[in-house]
Amino acid sequence: MTSPARPLIEIRGLHRTFVSGGAVETTALDGIDLDIHEGEFVAIKGASGSGKSTLLNVLGCLDRPSSGTYRIAGVDTTRLGTAELAHLRQRTFGFVFQRYHLINGMTAIDNVELPAIYGGVPKEVRRTRAERLMALLGLDDHRWKRPWQLSGGQQQRVAIARALINGGSVILADEPTGALDSKNSAEVIAIVRELAETGRTVILVTHDAQVAAQADRTIEIADGRIVSDRATKVANAPMTAAPLAVAGDRVSRPASGKTASQTGAQNFAQVRAWWSPIAEAGRSAFASIRSNPIRTGLTLLGVVIGVASVVALAAIGRGAEAEMIDRTSALVSNTIMVTDRREPGTSYTPLTPPDAAAIAELPNVIATLPVDEKYGVISHGHRETVTEIVGATRDYRTVYRWETRVGSYFSEEDDRRGSAVTVIGKTIAERLFPDTPDPTGATVLIDRMPFTVLGVLQEKGLSFSGEDLDRRLVVPLNAMMHRLGSRRELQYIVVAIDDMEMLTTTRDAVRALMVERHGRQDFSIADTAGAFRSITDERMAMNIRLIAIGGISLLVGGIGIMNMMLTAVRERTREIGIRTATGATPGDILRQFLIEAVVISGTGGVVGLAIGIAIGAGAAYFGATVILSVTSAALAFLLALTLGVVFGFMPARHAARLDPVIALASE
Ligand code: ADP
Ligand code: MG
Repeated sequence: MTSPARPLIEIRGLHRTFVSGGAVETTALDGIDLDIHEGEFVAIKGASGSGKSTLLNVLGCLDRPSSGTYRIAGVDTTRLGTAELAHLRQRTFGFVFQRYHLINGMTAIDNVELPAIYGGVPKEVRRTRAERLMALLGLDDHRWKRPWQLSGGQQQRVAIARALINGGSVILADEPTGALDSKNSAEVIAIVRELAETGRTVILVTHDAQVAAQADRTIEIADGRIVSDRATKVANAPMTAAPLAVAGDRVSRPASGKTASQTGAQNFAQVRAWWSPIAEAGRSAFASIRSNPIRTGLTLLGVVIGVASVVALAAIGRGAEAEMIDRTSALVSNTIMVTDRREPGTSYTPLTPPDAAAIAELPNVIATLPVDEKYGVISHGHRETVTEIVGATRDYRTVYRWETRVGSYFSEEDDRRGSAVTVIGKTIAERLFPDTPDPTGATVLIDRMPFTVLGVLQEKGLSFSGEDLDRRLVVPLNAMMHRLGSRRELQYIVVAIDDMEMLTTTRDAVRALMVERHGRQDFSIADTAGAFRSITDERMAMNIRLIAIGGISLLVGGIGIMNMMLTAVRERTREIGIRTATGATPGDILRQFLIEAVVISGTGGVVGLAIGIAIGAGAAYFGATVILSVTSAALAFLLALTLGVVFGFMPARHAARLDPVIALASE
């Protein structure tokens, strides 16, 4: 097992210099040449500041040399990228630090399992392994405790279990007894010795000669150079049946020499590898939300308001729009209106039925409707009501697409002769004939003139200006002019057109014709496209307001998330260092913080969605038309998630780029 042809670790001419504060350079390692064979137990000794920790960090691939080469199992580490180094670290090394470096928010057993999560070990396997290791290290009763509930010696044993969980073949211990009393110290050293005796390569940094004496070989460094390197003991043959031999799967060499069963296990691990870190990130995200409910809540407010307002305003806005289109189309079909416009002091010609007849001859015109209107009183027996009297031809029916519900319109003959007949609106019918649904044939008095009711119009409801359209009655235009004492002038002509695409052309033709007939434009001309256009404009303006309100609060929410994540990264720098040291790649760290940000923004999205729907329901309860659109709700929620990704990215990248050595040193 010892002394294979090639050393496990080969270091040549290794330098590590730190540039701090601009010009000042510290040379921590100043030309190290070192070979360590598999299975060796090496102590590195030296005064404080001599470069021991720096050497150990380089050995464990937490840090990179400034110059020189470092080969492990023949692989040149200086050629590996950050992620490859992380995988190497994960498979090969187990770190034990002076200050234990456990993650405070996690239980002891979760701490032990952490490297296995990044190693992609399936949940059940890593749990069993962790339990076995903890049992061997006398931690059975402490699995579910948090680090602060454990003594220093117990914490260090948890850290040792963590170093062993992936079967780490090289244990790197940086003054593992430095913070312990002599009893705990002796215990930890005994464990380390045992690890060495079960065939692991152990590299132990200490400034304590007694501790160093336990190793097979002692290397002393001063000012970044090796000053002595000697065997302290005759290397023992590995003891058989040492208890820790069963702990973890021993990996002989990091990049080669896998046994068949290990290859199988690793293939399985690779399948699971992508999932474990994501699940871990999700768990950690919920844990951090739970640990800071108020801060999270305040951060979420922007997202909540943004999503809620988009959902609620979209629902109410769509409702209002639908209502308006309904009313408008009830009132006007595809029409152009030519309206009388007399201005004082100017000569003018009234609109006349021949004008209407002339317009009817134009192309794209289906029919024209000459209209004379006035208010009057209609009565039947002792019942009477004030109403709008519309004098028009029977084309009223086609132009407004307004059928009768009972009875019928007057005939062409009635039109021509101006018969005393009328079609009345539903409201009038109910007013004057409360006892019968069909008043056809009845005689009513309109402005005290008798008229026969021919029919009742279908219900139309309110116009978009709020007028009750069912409160009108229609009489033949000639009856209006000759029997009801009107001014015998038209108020307007309604022009029903066929093809809306040609609306503008037709309108221009109507205008030209009327100017020709009247000698000047003494009328105004409008079309229903205008009415629809104004609705479209209204809707645009509404949407813009909506986007503005939602957008601003979502932006505020996003900035809140970014701020919270930056704070989280700062507060948890040491945790990031620990995760990296135990095998997390920069990608794992990035993913973890991104997932946290998305979980936070997603939570805000769900709450906002609920509030938005509640507001919509409230508005509906108070009588507004509310159309809840699944699309806009889904969009708002997606937007919230996107927000987490976009605004969480910068903090997450910042976390992923932290130097693990510096991160570990932070408090
Ligand atoms: P030891 O572990 O033997 O006490 P270190 O390896 O921690 O020593 O440090 C060796 C030298 O490198 C010291 O002079 C220390 O100040 C310096 N050093 C270590 N890390 C850094 C760093 N990140 N930036 C600047 N100087 C450093
Ligand atoms: Mg040190």
